[in-house]
Amino acid sequence: MPELPEVEVTRLGLRDALRGSRIDGVHQGKPLRWPLGCPPQQLHGERIDDVERRGKYLLLPLQHGELIVHLGMSGSLRWLAAGTAPPPGAHDHFALLTDRGELRMRDPRRFGAVVWHAARAAPHALLAALGPEPLGAGFDGAVLQRALRGRSAAVKTLLLDQRIVAGVGNIYACEALHRAGIDPRRAGGEISAARCARLAEALRATLSEAVAAGGSTLRDFAAADGAHGCFQHAARVYDRAGLPCPACGAAVLRITQGQRSTYFCAHCQRR
Ligand SMILES: [Zn+2]
Repeated sequence: MPELPEVEVTRLGLRDALRGSRIDGVHQGKPLRWPLGCPPQQLHGERIDDVERRGKYLLLPLQHGELIVHLGMSGSLRWLAAGTAPPPGAHDHFALLTDRGELRMRDPRRFGAVVWHAARAAPHALLAALGPEPLGAGFDGAVLQRALRGRSAAVKTLLLDQRIVAGVGNIYACEALHRAGIDPRRAGGEISAARCARLAEALRATLSEAVAAGGSTLRDFAAADGAHGCFQHAARVYDRAGLPCPACGAAVLRITQGQRSTYFCAHCQRR
């Protein structure tokens, strides 16, 4: 599933092509998770002012309103310069046709969506409840501890809650907890200020390294230029059950928390 680094890599890959382009048409395939929310013709003539990101959402501010893109489980975006676009394939369910080329969304499982939002002044319901940006300037241990305060659920499960921290998914939650030396089963509200500071730093480091590496987590995910990222090879614990922990050599364990797999080292990660 695309997490923050994949969306950020997509944003960086699309920014130069899309910024300042004009929407001339919209292609819609099968329905996505949520409807567009406006007649497609309403987007004709709109200029795309920028490409931004909030959590796992990609935002395209327009002259009037904005488009909110979510890649769901298996979505990916591709930029096809003018004159190079092959006909849409069976899994290409949305495209913005611009004066410079085409932004095409491929989404075999159709959990992704492109949603129009009229007024940027008030955040869209999808974005209103999102927690702090882990790569944002203000994110630190104090912010994280405040978000976890009073919560008895396991910290790993809480990190996946987009209201606690925006953009973190299963892979980077496992990796950051290993890096911070925190047991994923520990109650979120019981983590000390010092360890929250370590965890906040570990989240920032893990996510920014993944962005730098071209951040890919899913075989279906392709960066905006079509190249696959390579962060997966650098995982310390994620999807490494039974393999040696890179820090101590003990076997990495896999448990299930909230119906998701958690990978961790019982020796390095303490309660
Ligand atoms: Zn270890």
